Amino acid sequence: MELYMPLWKIVKRPLLPIRDSWQDAMPLVLLFVLMSVAAWGAYRLQGSKRQWVRRGTQVAAALVFVVFLHRCLCALRGWVFGLELMGRNNLIAFAHMAIFIIVMAFTIGMGRLFCGWLCPLGAASEAMRWITRWRERLGKRRALISGYLMLAGLLILIAWLAWMVAPDTGFFAENVAALWGVGLLVLLFFALPRAEDDARLKRVKYVSAIGWLGLSVIGVFVTNPWCVLMGDELDYSSMVSILAVLSGGMIVSMAWCRYLCPLGATVGLLALLSPIKIRNSLSPEQCTDCGQCRQVCPMNALDRTQVDHTSCIYCGQCTNTCGFHFENELARGESEAEVGET
Ligand code: SF4
Ligand code: SF4
Repeated sequence: MELYMPLWKIVKRPLLPIRDSWQDAMPLVLLFVLMSVAAWGAYRLQGSKRQWVRRGTQVAAALVFVVFLHRCLCALRGWVFGLELMGRNNLIAFAHMAIFIIVMAFTIGMGRLFCGWLCPLGAASEAMRWITRWRERLGKRRALISGYLMLAGLLILIAWLAWMVAPDTGFFAENVAALWGVGLLVLLFFALPRAEDDARLKRVKYVSAIGWLGLSVIGVFVTNPWCVLMGDELDYSSMVSILAVLSGGMIVSMAWCRYLCPLGATVGLLALLSPIKIRNSLSPEQCTDCGQCRQVCPMNALDRTQVDHTSCIYCGQCTNTCGFHFENELARGESEAEVGET
């Protein structure tokens, strides 16, 4: 007699559409692989080897997501789309949400590696740092004047381009990426003269994230600077916006990532939950305030021995200066417990 076992399955189709369309699944698989390489490089390697692997991961991520795979990586918008589609087309809902889930899971487990090791926009912004560093070497006054001159010129150019590419209909809805770019340059007018306001201005990114999500929820198709890199169609508004992001990065290091990126704001908060963080083994009294660590940090996340964990992108550059290192709080807790027991 044949044994009959009634089985009730919740998932009737494979969650990842690998068998039928491996191309659809590839961005997710590659994102997972690249995040794993980043975690290995960040926590297993040291010094220049770590930085070489980081550069390699950034280049690989750029090739994978910009050149080979035209798949939108907009994790926040995808998340909203996915929620909307759940129950109607679970497979597509999953495809939209999986990018955010992978980034979120790695960020909670391993820290904000996505920003410092993978994001092509972050890598491009970081590449602009040579200009900010060159300006810093001119001295404070000249750096400020050159910054204002560049900013004024760029703001006029970007605002004009944003106006030129604006569609006749849905000005706001279809031009939102360009407007975000203009907003970034306006913000830099406040950031440039007063370094002490940096921490306050960094909070603007939370407003940006709420606005971004809010617009997605009410049905505005929110494009962003990534779209022109990741999408498979030319979106002029995104092009203007990416120009603003890159030129903003010449005026203030990683300006977009520091002040306005909605995804960066979200993963920055999630990274607070991660057990792996940058710490300094020096006590505040041992720190001589030489400023070496501040000079290398692209996000201005360091204040003597203190780290702003919502801004840190886990690039590891400060670990080559005194006392800073990646620390796994779980491992520290275990070793402290072992010491306590002995
Ligand atoms: S802050 Fe935004 S743009 Fe910058 S690296 Fe992170 S996700 Fe990319
Ligand atoms: S604190 Fe260190 S790891 Fe974090 S962004 Fe700055 S230099 Fe990179």
